[in-house]
Amino acid sequence: MNFNEIPLHIPNIEKIQKRYQVFLEEFKKADNAKDVEKLISKINKFESDLSSDINIIYIRYTIDTTNQEYKTAMQTVNEISPLITECSCEIIKEILNKPFKDELEKKYGKFLFQKYENSLLSFDKKIINDLIEENKLVNQHDEILGNSKVIYKDKEYSIAQLGKFIESTDRNTRYEVSKLIEKFFKDNNKQLGEIYSNMVIVRDRMAKKLGYSSYVDFAYKLLGRTDYNKEDIKNYREQLYKTVVPIYKKLIKQQAKLIEIKNPQFYDLNLYFKNGNPAPHDNIIELTKKANKMYHLMSKETGEFFEMMMDSNLLSLEATKGKLPGGYMTSISKYKVPFIFANSNGTSQDVETLTHEVGHAFQYYCARNIKVPEYFSPTLEACEIHSMSMEFLTWPWMDLFFGDDAEKFKYQHLANSICFIPYMALVDEFQHFVYENVNITHEERCAKWRELEKKWLPLKKYSGFNFYNKGTWWLKQNHIFSSPFYYIDYSLAQVVAYQFLNESLKNRERTWNKYVKLCKLGGKYPFQTLLEKAHLRNPFIDGNVKKNIRPLIKLLKEFDVEKLNK
Ligand SMILES: [Zn+2]
Repeated sequence: MNFNEIPLHIPNIEKIQKRYQVFLEEFKKADNAKDVEKLISKINKFESDLSSDINIIYIRYTIDTTNQEYKTAMQTVNEISPLITECSCEIIKEILNKPFKDELEKKYGKFLFQKYENSLLSFDKKIINDLIEENKLVNQHDEILGNSKVIYKDKEYSIAQLGKFIESTDRNTRYEVSKLIEKFFKDNNKQLGEIYSNMVIVRDRMAKKLGYSSYVDFAYKLLGRTDYNKEDIKNYREQLYKTVVPIYKKLIKQQAKLIEIKNPQFYDLNLYFKNGNPAPHDNIIELTKKANKMYHLMSKETGEFFEMMMDSNLLSLEATKGKLPGGYMTSISKYKVPFIFANSNGTSQDVETLTHEVGHAFQYYCARNIKVPEYFSPTLEACEIHSMSMEFLTWPWMDLFFGDDAEKFKYQHLANSICFIPYMALVDEFQHFVYENVNITHEERCAKWRELEKKWLPLKKYSGFNFYNKGTWWLKQNHIFSSPFYYIDYSLAQVVAYQFLNESLKNRERTWNKYVKLCKLGGKYPFQTLLEKAHLRNPFIDGNVKKNIRPLIKLLKEFDVEKLNK
């Protein structure tokens, strides 16, 4: 298959609803487990084709949000997707009502039925219009970001393309470009603030209609969190506060020394070494070729996999105008292949994003033949283990991209990843506050953000940046708008990924096999059971965050940073 040749197919909701109606009648008639199993296979095939059409539209739209055809197609998808959920929930209800449910459970595993029950708890007809409204708001937000244009030195850039300047060795460049980005968000503050307020209102309304006391519990259901709740998350954040914030402070102080700045401001902290951050000096074609070489050296299965991704045009890595910022992996289940989306900008981030998304994609590929499609991938916090561990498991080949700067890259990658954990916790605590206090104003929300920022990132300073200083940094964080509560997941996964790093430095082969085993398990189990099956420490258990991070402090000390800084 070749992605570029797949035609755009816009789903027709009337046809879809009719098809589901026929399925529903068939399910109602089925009076034994065997018949239901046959119907489940049939509907799986239908839903796989449908989700592939939808994902293809999503991919094309996010690559070019200015293309009218894709935009219209995406609008259609946003409008019809709650209606599709409605249809599939009717089928699920029917399956759950069968008197021979136990027999089905034996065949498909108990977890599928837990997932079914979870989907019913997170959907009802009465929230369809709210879901459509929510999707529209997400789109409005994406368009503002997708169409971001900033003029710097007479050239036009999207926000994503400015990444390389904010880590410049020239302090003035970092300052100027950060100023331009701040101005973009200041100019859009009113609009983004309003979009978010409306999102909070509609999300809270849905939760209340479904009988939840706030959107928080509803969001946990939507994220498929079946084996932990907000109390567990709160307790986990406590662990992060006690363990990681002190390390963050030490690392920032060391960074300030390395870049020789006494009172570093936020825009200084993108630079790790006074002679410049390590960067791959390649264009995207060269970078992809090197990644191909690396994945062939890594293992037979990764080599074949990456080559297939290249040959089938399943990689969109370049930052172009109209492209949505960020990176993601999605799948086209009709062809049993993943797709990788990124925005390269000439920084080390390009390599990190590539290896990260390849981790997601490789996992999907490993699990693509699991019989139950609901088990292809686990919940998000477990998915991020695949990606974040892949970032570390590729360390032995970083010289391909960074040459003599490979050690610099590893130091920066690791130090940066630790310093980022408090930010993840901040985003999470902020969102809990927002949805538990829905009636406050945009300004009050910002004030709370600044308060929490001082708790989690005590060394983040905004001198000369009055707008950010009011607590508006969160406007830059896509997830807060589009994927509520999906952020602490990264930190959970990061902590687990550290175990992969620690173990791989002792025994690469054994660790690689452990990783592939985890990938192949897909989403057969909930998060904590997956960890148990894969012999990984559970970050929810007190003390485990410390156990995984402690060896890294030693590891960071082993880097000869003075030498790397010369
Ligand atoms: Zn990811």
